[in-house]
Amino acid sequence: MKYEPIIGLEVHVELATMSKMFCGCPADHFGKKPNTQTCPVCLGLPGALPVPNKKAVEWTVLLGLALHCSINEVSKFDRKHYFYPDLPKGYQISQYDMPLAKDGKLKLKAQSSKLKMEEKIVRIRRVHLEEDTGKLMHETVNGEQVTLIDFNRSGVPLVEIVTEPDFRTVEDVDIFLKKLQQIIRYLGISGADMEKGSMRLEPSISIQRQKELRSQPDLYKSGEELPAYRVELKNINSFRFVRKALEYEIERQTEMLARGEKPIQQTRGWNEGKGATVAQREKEEAHDYRYFPEPDIPPMRFAQIQSSKLKAQIPELPDEKKQRFMTAYGLNEYDADMITETREKAEFFEECVKVARALETGDKRQEITPKTIANWLINRNINIDEVLPAQLIERIIKATQVASVSDEELEKVIKQVLADNQKAVLDYKNGKEQALMFLVGQAMKASKGKVSAETLKQRLRAAV
Ligand SMILES: [Zn+2]
Repeated sequence: MKYEPIIGLEVHVELATMSKMFCGCPADHFGKKPNTQTCPVCLGLPGALPVPNKKAVEWTVLLGLALHCSINEVSKFDRKHYFYPDLPKGYQISQYDMPLAKDGKLKLKAQSSKLKMEEKIVRIRRVHLEEDTGKLMHETVNGEQVTLIDFNRSGVPLVEIVTEPDFRTVEDVDIFLKKLQQIIRYLGISGADMEKGSMRLEPSISIQRQKELRSQPDLYKSGEELPAYRVELKNINSFRFVRKALEYEIERQTEMLARGEKPIQQTRGWNEGKGATVAQREKEEAHDYRYFPEPDIPPMRFAQIQSSKLKAQIPELPDEKKQRFMTAYGLNEYDADMITETREKAEFFEECVKVARALETGDKRQEITPKTIANWLINRNINIDEVLPAQLIERIIKATQVASVSDEELEKVIKQVLADNQKAVLDYKNGKEQALMFLVGQAMKASKGKVSAETLKQRLRAAV
């Protein structure tokens, strides 16, 4: 008998807004002294009234749009009731039946066999906005085991992205999560950092008998009959643990089914020490939470024009950027993938290309191609925070061009540049430091990029 896993994901992402979701406290809580960033609203004190954070709403819509969701014209907040010490109000303000965004998708390139890459679509059920809870810390104080609560995180804007149960392999889950993280970072709405807890993953998994007649590419059909249970996994704070926890569950549930037992609906936590998942509680259903509309916050209305305005703010996303880099700069797929890994790296690369083009002399041998720049960025561990595009180009020139300029030639270049740019010389003498950089640029051009900017700067300074 063949079995296959059915996996869906819930991903929580803390938004990097200045203030919290419903009050003015700072949202950046990581590493801050416990309980220093709180107020009556985020502590849930009686009489405190929540006021929604406009930026957080906009960013959630922005993410929804980037994931090809439709934006609900009318959306509202709801109270989700449950008791836990990290939730002083006794309910969390979340969204139930009218999330900000729904019915989206994300395209993946996934490995369908050892040799073939295949495009797969994962459907996004919804993207909604809620507030984060406080944080429990289990510690030993004066030899006693205690649990401390830090409310700095309480009320931080939290986006929840829910997929349909469209995954059939652990690899696809991995590819999806990395891509989602990349898009969130491109949008600049969150660091989506798992170590800091600003991205949290909760996969749900069940196992079913593989349908014999189903052919491989058809796995992602909607309306499939799903198993009558699912196991939700918690305590996962790295991509690696997602893989391990899912692999463990696939084995555990498959063995149960093979023995004729039925796995039950429950929540299980990943225990890294044991290398196993451990039952935490029987999974509750939506009606257990007694959702009802948040009476203190009026529903939100989104006009088409507002969505369009936000849509225009979406930057070029990784897939489009990668495609453009391949056509515009002749990069192969691997290089384009690496260069567009982060938005910063992609922008740095394009700046380098610009600098290199400005230096072009028409001499093919001296040309620094986008491919060369990409190779440097990929293979030489260039830290783009520590080097400027022009400096990297300079390094490449130094490394690739053996021919250098004799001292007489350099002297001639310096004299010529000074003679040709008397206004800049005068500006520099009058204290304009920028004029010197302009002269350096001119001298770089005149020396065909064979002399480093630093050398030219020194010579020009001495000659002025
Ligand atoms: Zn507050």
